[in-house]
Amino acid sequence: RIAYVNGQYRDMRDASVNIEDRGYQFSDGVYEVCEIRGGKVVDMPRHLTRLQRSLRELRIDMPMPLAALEIVIHETVRRNRVSYGIVYLQVTRGVARRDHAFPVNPVKPALVVTARGLNLQKNQDTAAKGIGVITVPENRWPRVDIKSVSLLPNVLAKQQARENSAYEAWFVDHNGHVTEGSSSNAWIVTTDGKVITRSVDSGILAGITRAVLMEVLAALQIKLEERPFTPAEAYEAAEAFVTASSQIVMPVVRIDGRNIGDGKPGSISMRLREEFHRFSAFS
Ligand code: PMP
Repeated sequence: RIAYVNGQYRDMRDASVNIEDRGYQFSDGVYEVCEIRGGKVVDMPRHLTRLQRSLRELRIDMPMPLAALEIVIHETVRRNRVSYGIVYLQVTRGVARRDHAFPVNPVKPALVVTARGLNLQKNQDTAAKGIGVITVPENRWPRVDIKSVSLLPNVLAKQQARENSAYEAWFVDHNGHVTEGSSSNAWIVTTDGKVITRSVDSGILAGITRAVLMEVLAALQIKLEERPFTPAEAYEAAEAFVTASSQIVMPVVRIDGRNIGDGKPGSISMRLREEFHRFSAFS
């Protein structure tokens, strides 16, 4: 596999970053993950807009102009011959002698881009069965709108899910409301067919899949309510699902060990999954 690292395409076995990179020292960086389908990057402009926003919020410069970044992404996908999979990009503040505050003399942000093939059939099989979710107390910082590489709470929550035979963990805030998954946005479908997800005002990352799915819902004339929901409401929901670029719409059939609906992927969830890419931009 080939990675783009600070100006060079390298075999990943030989690729390395400096041990004083602030991403390594402080998690001082951000990332993006885009889906690759048919060798094309899905919704790249939206991902790059979010990347620019994350960087701006942390006062890290763009590592290169947008157009150049697009070329690097395409080239990394091409060199790895990925037809279906993900492209990952990470930007950190750069290399400087360890000190919490920003480097006094500005350093160049570090950029890494990798691409990896995934097994589409396996993903479809997982969707056909649906996944289990557990709920865990929200313990992340309030700035989860920034797609930071600082992911320890997410790592621990996902591990707890795995140890409880579940695939994803949903964080629950101090008001008893679900915020989002450790690496996905959380959704339910009410028994009267309304699709519910929390608004981006607080507590969640503004998912690109979430944003595109809202356009799908509007086009299919499915009612959407942007509001928080509790685990108790989710247990009684007709359907539940999560969204993320690497999963698209992934049906949830179990939450905290309770079956959702009849314990099978819901029909609205599966329909949204099927329709999704009609509304994506491929480049
Ligand atoms: N929330 C969190 C915490 C995530 O890590 C992700 C996936 N990176 C998402 C939501 C979904 O975002 P997207 O649809 O842009 O992949």
